[in-house]
Amino acid sequence: MSDYHLSRLMLVALAATVALLKQSPEVLAVDPQPTGLREMNSVASPTDSHPIAIVNARLIDGNGGAPLDDACVIVEGDTIVFVGPQSEATIPSTAERIDAAGKCLLPGLLDSHFHSRSSAKTLVEYELNNGVTAFRDPGHPFKFYHWLENSDTVIPRVFLTGGHLDAEPPAWPDQAVVIGTPQQATDAVNQHVDQGASAIKIYMRLPLSSIESACIAASGRKVPVTAHLELIDADDAIRAGVGGIEHITSFGTSLADPAHAREFKQAIIKDSEARRAWRPRLWQRINLDNNPRLEPLLNLLVQRQTFISPTLAVFEARANEKNATPEKVAAFDNMLQFFALCHQRGARIVVGSHTAAPFAAQGKAYLREVELMAQAGMQPLDIITAATKNNAIFLGAQDRLGTIEIGKQADLVLIDGDPTKTISEIDKVDRVMLGGIWVAGR
Ligand SMILES: [Zn+2]
Repeated sequence: MSDYHLSRLMLVALAATVALLKQSPEVLAVDPQPTGLREMNSVASPTDSHPIAIVNARLIDGNGGAPLDDACVIVEGDTIVFVGPQSEATIPSTAERIDAAGKCLLPGLLDSHFHSRSSAKTLVEYELNNGVTAFRDPGHPFKFYHWLENSDTVIPRVFLTGGHLDAEPPAWPDQAVVIGTPQQATDAVNQHVDQGASAIKIYMRLPLSSIESACIAASGRKVPVTAHLELIDADDAIRAGVGGIEHITSFGTSLADPAHAREFKQAIIKDSEARRAWRPRLWQRINLDNNPRLEPLLNLLVQRQTFISPTLAVFEARANEKNATPEKVAAFDNMLQFFALCHQRGARIVVGSHTAAPFAAQGKAYLREVELMAQAGMQPLDIITAATKNNAIFLGAQDRLGTIEIGKQADLVLIDGDPTKTISEIDKVDRVMLGGIWVAGR
């Protein structure tokens, strides 16, 4: 074929693609699901070579299927080498046996939203001791984690985004990279990925044009983009290529009556701090029955399989407790109801603790989050899948983490209870394994 014909053919193909894109605004502009992404820290591997066999466990492998009783998992080095019924296991004679009768074995939990700032101690007390073996800090600059290089404390796998991308005037000046043009958004994405970012976080003032260029740049570097929104509607951000939404509140302006959404945005454009008072006002007025904006949004979330990290526990309000106004209580009811609809319709849910929450004891925000998911009607097994497999996909580490399968990293948590019956039992952590080494537990 001549060059002329070849370029003709390419032009025709291009025209067809453009026509298709115009016809169907839902066509993916960017790859939403990268894999092979890495943590910033190096996790130690076992130095002695004896295998570990966990026997008689009730296995919940993270894939969402029914638990397997009398299961055996064998770990060699930092890798899972056998998963299956005890009766089918050939346990090496050199193996150390752990009898897990009466206990449940789960993949290490993952936390999609945790801010630790400068503290290894918080990471141990809030995360590792509670079975969390990997987390992402969506939005704190790398400088908050320079201590990682000189720390020998055993901590979970740390996934970072670098500072979040915001615009003038940024809500959190010490955490933001202030973006003025779409080109600056592209540059910031590239700089962050060069420094080890495994995702990009965008913040409330970043305009849609810069969100688009950030998503294109991130897609080129094979990392996902996740967003905290107030001023840009979630559906617009998702169409621009955003793959994850942090906080259930980020859906407010997509669901609210357009006049109410405008009022909300005007208040927040003037003063970022106004978001705290205006969010409950906006959400209390959202009507989820007969809402013409609800179905298109749910359809988009399901179609794109957008990751929803709702951080429900942060917004929890109970009547007559902790200065809750009727407005805040009604707003939270609506948030929980919208979350339930997302789950019922098959949207992709992940678990993020946001470090602390009003009705969680210190270090137990993750627990409160999964309890609220159950309160919204999510089945415990689905919550466990959201906490493990889905979070691993969200982190882009599903090739190594998130499920108990042969060849995956041995990040495990043994629970002295049954979280498939009552999700709160997930708090009964017996032992935690990180990369083949028992690192926490009783
Ligand atoms: Zn946050």
